[in-house]
Amino acid sequence: MWAPQQREAIPRLLLEWYRVHGRPMPWHDTPHPYHLLVAAIMLQQTQVQTVLPYLRRFLHRFPTVQTLAQAKEDEVLHYWGGLGYYSRARNLHRAAQQIVQQYGGRVPCEATQLRQLPGVGEYTAGAVASIACGKPEPALDANGYRILARLLAFEGEVSRPTHRRQLWEACRQVIPEQAPGDFNQALMDLGATVCTARHPRCLVCPLAEHCSAFQQGRQMDLPVLPPRRASEKVQDVCVVIECDRRWLMVKRTNGQLWRGMWEFPRVRLEEGETIEQAAARAAAMTGAQMSDAAPSGIVRHSVMHYAITLHVLRGRARVQPPQENGQLRWVTPEEATALPLPSPVRKVIQTLMSGSDTPG
Ligand code: SF4
Repeated sequence: MWAPQQREAIPRLLLEWYRVHGRPMPWHDTPHPYHLLVAAIMLQQTQVQTVLPYLRRFLHRFPTVQTLAQAKEDEVLHYWGGLGYYSRARNLHRAAQQIVQQYGGRVPCEATQLRQLPGVGEYTAGAVASIACGKPEPALDANGYRILARLLAFEGEVSRPTHRRQLWEACRQVIPEQAPGDFNQALMDLGATVCTARHPRCLVCPLAEHCSAFQQGRQMDLPVLPPRRASEKVQDVCVVIECDRRWLMVKRTNGQLWRGMWEFPRVRLEEGETIEQAAARAAAMTGAQMSDAAPSGIVRHSVMHYAITLHVLRGRARVQPPQENGQLRWVTPEEATALPLPSPVRKVIQTLMSGSDTPG
């Protein structure tokens, strides 16, 4: 796949560039396998600058595999709150328990063993094995795939597993035995700062002389991406039911996305239904009836390919308010913010708390 001069020059030039321009990362000087495992899982789907404050907070609360393994899922989700893609947090929690049982609390260094852990794919396994353990394993994220596809002028669609495997193998051929972790981080950093998706800065790129896409003037056409799926607009309605200065919140028990997290009762607006009717339906799911329901704001957010407009209505519990159980709680605003909450629910609470009144 590589021309002989590419094989020799690319790792050398990339490492030289990284020593000067690499982004400082908290794990750079003392790469600990557990810290890398948490960081790499957080970095799946989320950008570095967003991840760093969450990573600090998470590792402060769960400094070791053992502390994470022993924690309650609710608390783990709480410390993940705002990062999204919560199945990552649930998997990381289970991975910590598996590491305690199977490896006595030490994160394994072999990529094959790492890949057996819940939620650990090739990227995460490669990042831990190379950066924390010095193993010559590729760790390709979207940045890495993009750079390799451009360097090689690779024509395959990069989201396809066969094409990913080919690029993975290509990376294996150039990853150096010495400093494989730096090589992987250099690819991530070059992709984030120089070889970006929309504005590759080829004139300052250390690899330009060896980049087939640049030499052919095709850097903007590569990598080949799948056709974009248009986002679907939908409307949801949630109800903030109040009683004795408390709000009624429910725990999600289904779905991969927000399972185990807390929210206000919520439904999707059906065709021909008014927002008030949907609000009554959302309240009825909990056995509650609401009076004086009034609009209290709109929160917009996106989940997967849905662009969601969330209508928030606020009212009082009528007659007998529903009793608490494992999936239903009456909470003060302060208690609500301590629960594991999806980001849109945090935004709803901010809207409620920035309003003139608190529950009454
Ligand atoms: Fe990316 Fe341009 Fe560098 Fe090629 S020369 S790796 S396209 S920035």
